[in-house]
Amino acid sequence: MRELDRYTPIVGKAEIAEIKHLAKNLRGIRVHHINSTKEGGGVAEILNRMVPLMQSLGINATWDTVDGNTRFFDVTKMFHNAMHGQEIKWKPEYADVLLETNLKNEAILNDPADVTVIHDPQPLPLVTFRDKKKRPFWLWRCHIDMSEADYHFWAALRKYVEEFDGSIFHMPNYTKGLGIPQYIVPPSIDPLSDKNKELTPTEINDTVNRLGIDPEKPYVLQVSRFDRFKDPVGVIKAFKMVQKWQDAQLVLAGGGAADDPEGAAVLEEVREVANNDPNIHILDLPPTSHFEINALQRGARVIVQKSLREGFGLVVTEAMWKGKPVVGGATGGITTQIIQNISGFLVHTIEGTAFHIRQLLANQGLAERLGTAAKEFARSNFLLPSHLKAWLLLLETKQHQNEKISFLK
Ligand code: UDP
Repeated sequence: MRELDRYTPIVGKAEIAEIKHLAKNLRGIRVHHINSTKEGGGVAEILNRMVPLMQSLGINATWDTVDGNTRFFDVTKMFHNAMHGQEIKWKPEYADVLLETNLKNEAILNDPADVTVIHDPQPLPLVTFRDKKKRPFWLWRCHIDMSEADYHFWAALRKYVEEFDGSIFHMPNYTKGLGIPQYIVPPSIDPLSDKNKELTPTEINDTVNRLGIDPEKPYVLQVSRFDRFKDPVGVIKAFKMVQKWQDAQLVLAGGGAADDPEGAAVLEEVREVANNDPNIHILDLPPTSHFEINALQRGARVIVQKSLREGFGLVVTEAMWKGKPVVGGATGGITTQIIQNISGFLVHTIEGTAFHIRQLLANQGLAERLGTAAKEFARSNFLLPSHLKAWLLLLETKQHQNEKISFLK
């Protein structure tokens, strides 16, 4: 409980009291989260904090990952990209790879759990091995924008999804026509984690300096895995336009995720386009660099997330919580977070990105106005306590599972 009290100064007493009240009914319930990586990317980021917080409320929450070989992660990355709408030629063997790997991971289900939560497509086929007595209630937590999912890839997953008792999506327009209940729960960031906690100006300066960036010259930052959907090459092109007018630096900070095999190739492309420009810093950071990313975000003048497709875009939330103006690609969850010209700018093109970066570099007052609004918007909607509250409400519905409650269909 004390763990939760630490959030009182950030979200207020009433919110914390409500969460504690909800948790009372759920003490001792076993909630087993399963995804495909412990490090890198938004899902791991959320589970790293959500699981201990659930535990601190007396919920018996655990977290495991499915193991797979390179082929499995190549195939699941294809699934991921195809769910985001990328055109990929379907081969039935992909479904076999998915099923076979999950079969090898069946032991993950050995212990009983009241609620089994499967995150994203990789571990979906585990539901096939469900034992209704040992594991009565299954939820699929989808972190991807499925609205433009490829037909064949989605058909291969859908048969598993329909076996769940419920599904959870970030936003209403990410949902699919499913025969099971669909719930809407946006993700969150933890304001007290190393990634998001307050830092002193000295900590920020020293870290930025240590990473080879000139702390005296303003810099524009994008933090993301080296992934084509994050469009790091587009960010460099936009920055090169800005450089004609402003003396600034660009920092592209990223790293790989254990379940993302494309990172190295994209990093190579990015280095080529940057062409050794001394004002462009490409940082390949280990996945544990939370403090460094925090300092980079806090030291940045402008934060960019020029994604072409996006699940939710937790990096945008992180930047907003730090009171930074964000220039974000008008896609996925970024459009839920950024209110045009109030809490940031939404962009569709490289030129638009360049225009708004330049505008924000030149106009400190505007940058501050947007940053202040962004912070309050993040506080009200996307911090861990409200996310936890949504989870507790959802777990409560488990108690009513036989009533087949459905919010959206
Ligand atoms: N992140 C990180 N190191 C990196 C790149 C990203 O720690 O090199 C973190 C980032 O701070 C954020 C998460 O990974 O918390 C990315 O989540 P997001 O939803 O933005 O994108 P995803 O990677 O899940 O597509």
